[in-house]
Amino acid sequence: AVALKDVTKVFPDGTVAVDNVNFDVSPGEFMVLLGPSGCGKSTLLRMIAGLEGATSGAILLDGEVANEMSPRERGVAMVFQDFALYPHMTVADNIGFPLRLSGVEPAARSEQVAQVASALGIGDVLERKPAQLSGGQRQRVAMGRAIVRRPGLFLMDEPLSNLDSGLRAELRAEISGLVRELGVTCVYVTHDQAEALTMADRVAILRRGVLQDVGTPTQVYGRPATLYVAAFLGSPR
Ligand code: ATP
Ligand code: MG
Repeated sequence: AVALKDVTKVFPDGTVAVDNVNFDVSPGEFMVLLGPSGCGKSTLLRMIAGLEGATSGAILLDGEVANEMSPRERGVAMVFQDFALYPHMTVADNIGFPLRLSGVEPAARSEQVAQVASALGIGDVLERKPAQLSGGQRQRVAMGRAIVRRPGLFLMDEPLSNLDSGLRAELRAEISGLVRELGVTCVYVTHDQAEALTMADRVAILRRGVLQDVGTPTQVYGRPATLYVAAFLGSPR
């Protein structure tokens, strides 16, 4: 679980990227952070990951203040828009790499790799190298590699934004299916309203660093907290 208490980020040049944000993510929940370009989504995600310090406020992971913890201590896995696979390794070895690092035996490793790969629809390309894959397949491999160790917290920053719309729709369903199947708590960043409303258990909407609304897709769309949220989501009025 994640809890953000009055989290603020002011960059050295005075830019207030995240302004007094409060929300919780429950264990196993799929939370989507939504808002337009520059609203502070990536900055907030990077603070949760421990890649960026908060200027003030507290980030709690499973009830413990995590502000001073390294990304590794936080037990998070993160996937970005620009992911890097190991070009000389097969798909199976790419996905299984984190398991190998943590000393998982080969038999258990291939079983866990096969489970994740099949949930992501890449079970039939396990022996290929990244160069022999489509862009969508490569992104699936990156997802698989990030989640195979079942991190306590799975963070994704616009992981589908490089893909065409058909592929994006397909992968949305696969990602949210896999995350729910594994029961991993997840914070997913996007600027795409449709993506947020179709994937999320709850959506948190940011504008210029300020949290506007947080709730289930039905709540934020049907009963938006502010006119801004209504306009941004295209809610009927
Ligand atoms: P996008 O959808 O374009 O990725 P975002 O919501 O992820 O946008 P952030 O990258 O979090 O937005 O940036 C939030 C604000 O903080 C923006 O105004 C940005 O210009 C500013 N910002 C980001 N990094 C820095 C930095 N290192 N120094 C100063 N300002 C920064
Ligand atoms: Mg961003």
